[in-house]
Amino acid sequence: MGEREVVLPEAKRPDAKTKKGQEPDAKAPRGQVKGGARVAEAVAQPAPASPSAPAPTPAAPASKPKAAPLHLEPGLTVEAPAASSDLFVSDPLAQVATLDAIAALVDACRKCPLGHSRTTSVPGEGNPQAGFVCVGEAPGATEDATGRPFVGRAGVLLTEILKAIGFAREDVFICNVLKCRPPNNRDPEPLEVQACSPYLHRQLDLIRPRVILALGRPAAHALLGSTASLGDLRGRLHRYRGIPLIVTYHPAALLRNPHWKRPTWDDVRIARRIFDGEAV
Ligand code: SF4
Ligand code: URA
Repeated sequence: MGEREVVLPEAKRPDAKTKKGQEPDAKAPRGQVKGGARVAEAVAQPAPASPSAPAPTPAAPASKPKAAPLHLEPGLTVEAPAASSDLFVSDPLAQVATLDAIAALVDACRKCPLGHSRTTSVPGEGNPQAGFVCVGEAPGATEDATGRPFVGRAGVLLTEILKAIGFAREDVFICNVLKCRPPNNRDPEPLEVQACSPYLHRQLDLIRPRVILALGRPAAHALLGSTASLGDLRGRLHRYRGIPLIVTYHPAALLRNPHWKRPTWDDVRIARRIFDGEAV
């Protein structure tokens, strides 16, 4: 397997690598790494073309503290079948060309039981040309009532996190793996994820962002086809169909455990730097 290294001019190590099997550690303070600022990126096959749609580049945060070098471990790479593959030609989802059209399909969808139990579908919202996409797990109660993603307590925190890296909500696109709320916010069932994921894949196909931020393990698993722990997924540069993907904590987890805010801050700053073209 080839390896491509991308040098970062100035960077901060998000965390020391968590040992296999360990849950990510609020306890252990994240160390900084000395030595060459490098992102090591596994390239299993020729690197896919970079996302074509140029995204707007908001001004970087005013004061840029001198940061220590960044070292991201190689991550997972997901490649999908070509959209033109025979399997997909009769799929209505493959034909739709706008996010609004996807939202209409989602609203009519009853492919899993959640389509019957939910109040309002929550397809996602934001800039259809966003360079930065946040993917969460599933709508909660407030989202189910309003049809909008991340508008409850976790959403308020996500909005703050985005603001801290220079984004307004409307600059980015925010969505979830599941488009309908699981009863009592229970974890998504694998069959629900399987039924619903094509909507997310098509959304990302149309948006072609510069970077994807996966919020929490279910989002990372759905996007990367991985079953690794969050600790193993964080601090690495992943690729989703060629698009750089960073994994961080879900904002709802941060509400339960504020110790994770600091490492989340490190993760999202890396995502922002990738968006800015510094890292890839
Ligand atoms: Fe359809 Fe997804 Fe809603 Fe299930 S959760 S009914 S697959 S839109
Ligand atoms: N949690 C999520 O994962 N998504 C939302 O939209 C709200 C809370």
